[in-house]
Formats: sequence, structure tokens, C-alpha cells
Amino acid sequence: MSTTKQIIELADRRTAHNYHPLPVVIHEAQGAWVVDVEGKRYLDCLAGYSSLNFGHGNPEILKAARDQLDRLTLTSRAFYHDQFAAFCAELGDLTGKDMILPMNTGAEAVETAIKVARKWGYQVKGVEPDKANIIVMEDNFHGRTTTIVSFSTDPDARADYGPYTPGFRIVKYGSVDAIRDAVDHNTVAVLVEPIQGEAGVLLPPDGYLSEIRSLCTEHDILFIADEIQSGLGRTGETFACDHENVVPDMYLMGKALGGGVVPVSAVAADAEILGVLKPGQHGSTFGGNPLACAVGLQVVRMLATGEYQERARALGEFLGTRLTPLLGHGVVAVRRRGLWAGIDIAPSLATGRQVCEALMAKGVLAKDTHGSTIRLAPPLVVSEEDLSWAVDKLTEVITELSD
Ligand SMILES: *Cc1c(COP(=O)(O)O)cnc(C)c1O
Repeated sequence: MSTTKQIIELADRRTAHNYHPLPVVIHEAQGAWVVDVEGKRYLDCLAGYSSLNFGHGNPEILKAARDQLDRLTLTSRAFYHDQFAAFCAELGDLTGKDMILPMNTGAEAVETAIKVARKWGYQVKGVEPDKANIIVMEDNFHGRTTTIVSFSTDPDARADYGPYTPGFRIVKYGSVDAIRDAVDHNTVAVLVEPIQGEAGVLLPPDGYLSEIRSLCTEHDILFIADEIQSGLGRTGETFACDHENVVPDMYLMGKALGGGVVPVSAVAADAEILGVLKPGQHGSTFGGNPLACAVGLQVVRMLATGEYQERARALGEFLGTRLTPLLGHGVVAVRRRGLWAGIDIAPSLATGRQVCEALMAKGVLAKDTHGSTIRLAPPLVVSEEDLSWAVDKLTEVITELSD
């Protein structure tokens, strides 16, 4: 039996089946390429759901991590450490916000935002005790905690995890009228992904984000942008909200903030919002640890130059020109912003899963979302040649499926 088969057999026997991975066992990686245990190379077109925006083994990020590993890895927030202030201050500068609250996973950043919005609602806005509501979108993905799945509309994500946390109003993504209809005097926040990633890279209608901004300002409601997947360079800007020059009240970041090395997430907001938290009212043992801050600081500095955003923009346009000819030839729709594309394969042809399996056989790793949609989100360090090669492979797969 091959090493691959043995490892997969063991994994399937001894681990919970909460994922359905493609049958590849990765051993090492560099830049946009990974190598499996058999020595076969693949172009990584998922990039850890955009956690690897700066590529596998990015030398600057690894150097920051190594230097920190040798010196200091953990203090807890009971003490200050020498990476904390710099990380928070520079991330604050990048986001344009007064304050940063670092956590670990994306879901924790979302949970933090929910708690802060509610507390802000009671203490600053003056909503009725225990009556705060938050408006969220259909087909959202914000993480996997019990509160977050309480307002998921994906049966897989939500079913049989009740009793559910109350206080959320679910409206159609893309409709400002739907949000306006759901607002009342106890509404404390609108929580939205500026681009719905897991739903299939769904782009907002033009003006949607700026209209949410106006609505929130008008009704004294916090605009919370979950930029955990869309942010930090992926779309060709630092944040997906930047495409409409919109500034939300809270940015939620995760994934790429950890440089593909460690989980790092954060909430960024101004002092009148994050300032509602007092000592003991929220926290995390690992949030803002020295290793996380050293890596996160390096990520922030790389984003501050704009180089990666520019790469995403240019490579994205190139990807777009390569994908357009596929429209009507096995591809029903392409949605793209920066180096992030959702591709709807004709459902009669194949499921997204089947396309991803066929791509894998040809040396391209991609991931389906729902039904017949696949997404392409390679590391922003990918070369134009490699990107072009991946589209060739996709074209071959579609041609072979059409025969
Ligand atoms: C991945 C993701 C999350 C959750 O992040 P985890 O680190 O998996 O908890 C939340 N929101 C969005 C938009 C995401 O893509």
C-alpha cells in the first residue's frame, strides 16, 4: 500500500470526519507549491482559505517567527511583552483604528465583535436590557462556535446544535432594504462579509457596502465587516471594503494575519467602541502572544507597503482574462475580485468536488464551495506563468468532462 493510502486510512479511522479532504497528503511547501509524501508537486490554489496569502514558507515571516521562537513565545496577558504594543499600534495604523483586540481564531474575533457590539449597545446606545439584536446575512460564514452557527443558514453548519443563541436577524445578502426593514431601536450591529467567500465568492452589488455604511450611521448601529477571508490583500486592496471606500466601525481579521504560521485574529475599532471592555470582561490565554504578535507585525509591515495588494490586483486581472473564454464552455459564471475567483461549473458537467478531484490529478489543488462552484485563491506570490498553467489544467478538465 502506498504511503498516501496508509496515512489516509489511518486518518479516516482515528479522526473525526468533520472534513472531507481531497486524497492528497502534503509533506512540504514553498511559495505557491506544495509537495506530497510521494514527491508529487501541486500548485496550491486554495492557500489555506487565504491564510497563506504571502505564500508557504515566506522568508520574511519565517525569520520573524524564528527570531521570536528563540527568545520568547508566551507570557499570557497577565504581563506585557515587547511585541505586543508594536503589533497593535501598527495594525491600528493599517486599519485606521484607535484600538486592537488580538485573539487567535477567526471565530473568536467574531465572538468578540458580538460581545463588544452588545455591550456597546447597552452602555453607549442605550438599548433595552437583554434585547440587543444584530442583523446578519443569509448564506453567511462567520465560524463554528455555538453562537455563530445559531445564525447560520447552512443546515450542515447548524442542524442539531441547538438550543441556539437568540438575538440575530437574518436578511438577504445584497439587499439594503432588507436590512432597513429589520432595523429597530434595539439593533446594535450589522455583521456582514463584504464578499461572501464560503457561499461561493459572492460579490456585493455596487453601492451595497456604502449604503450599509449610511444606514448604520443614520441609525447609530455598528457596521462590522468580517474581513477574515476577504481582507489583507486578497482582493487587491487591504480590505474588501476599500473597493467602495467604505470604513466599517469594526474590522474582523484572521487567516492571513497569522502569516500561514500561527492562528492570529484581531478586532480593530475606535476607542468609543472597544473601550467598553474593562479588565476581566473578555480575554484569551493565547490571544496576542509574543509569537503571534511577532508574526502578525511582520504581516502588517508587508501589507503596509501595498506590494501584495498590487500583486493581487495585477494577477487577478490576468486570471480574469484567462477565465473569461471559459464562459459558455462548461463555465456558467465567474465572480472575481483581485486574486479570488468563484467559478460556477455547468451543473450538468460535474460537481465542484469532481472538478477538484480531476484538477488534483493534474497537479492543481482547489476547493469546491457549494454544488458546482469552485474557488481559486492561490497565494499572492504565485507567478503569472503558474497561474496560467493552472487555468490550462482547469480548461483540460472541463474539456475532458464535456467529451
Ligand atoms: C474562516 C472564516 C471565519 C472563521 O475563522 P476560523 O479561524 O476558522 O475560526 C470567519 N469568517 C470568515 C469570513 C471566514 O472566512
